[in-house]
Amino acid sequence: MDRREIAALLAYIGRLDPRTIRTDPGEARDQLAQWHELLGDVPMATPHGWDARVAARQHIRTSPYQILPADVARPWESYRRDRLSRHSDPTPSVDPDDQAAWTAALAGARRAVAAGLAQPAQARAITSGRNGIDPRLEARLREIGSCIPPTARAALAPYRPARAAREAAVAQGQPDPLGVRCGWCLAQPGEPCRRRRIGPDDGVRGTAPRATPHPGRLDLAAAQQAQQPAMV
Ligand SMILES: [Zn+2]
Repeated sequence: MDRREIAALLAYIGRLDPRTIRTDPGEARDQLAQWHELLGDVPMATPHGWDARVAARQHIRTSPYQILPADVARPWESYRRDRLSRHSDPTPSVDPDDQAAWTAALAGARRAVAAGLAQPAQARAITSGRNGIDPRLEARLREIGSCIPPTARAALAPYRPARAAREAAVAQGQPDPLGVRCGWCLAQPGEPCRRRRIGPDDGVRGTAPRATPHPGRLDLAAAQQAQQPAMV
């Protein structure tokens, strides 16, 4: 809190507990200087739950003693400790081979959590799916698409034609046939369509993946895409 915020906090406290009001200008200045010296590094409020006024109000509500700077500083310290203990250092969104940047990203995330500027990132297993992902990491994932580098992906394309066709379709904003179940061959979402291999005696001898999805599946995907807005 800067001096202006400290003055606002003292004015708020004075309204709740008039004993703290200093009428003598010299005393008021000393009080302001003392509080500023002790609480200069405590924020007035953070986007995630800390508010110095709430801490002050809580003290005045529950304690018969006049409020001291420690009665704001102590809740702030426990707020910081509590958040850091819940933070699990998610994977930074920087190049993992850049050791300095990697360390700086981890430390920066910890500082932001401790200062109340960011929410603690908890282990992904106990949070609801993708909500906890750092937006910068999200952007990076969108750019790369998967853990397979783009060059390797291009080299693999001839060997997995269905997958390559799907990626090309998605990249061009076309409907993704593999996103829906095929009504013809019953291939599940994510699986390529399959054709039956018929033996000489007309018996089915198993199935083989098709490079292109069945036309009905394409139509279904197109219909679904028309129904819902494109995924962001
Ligand atoms: Zn099919």
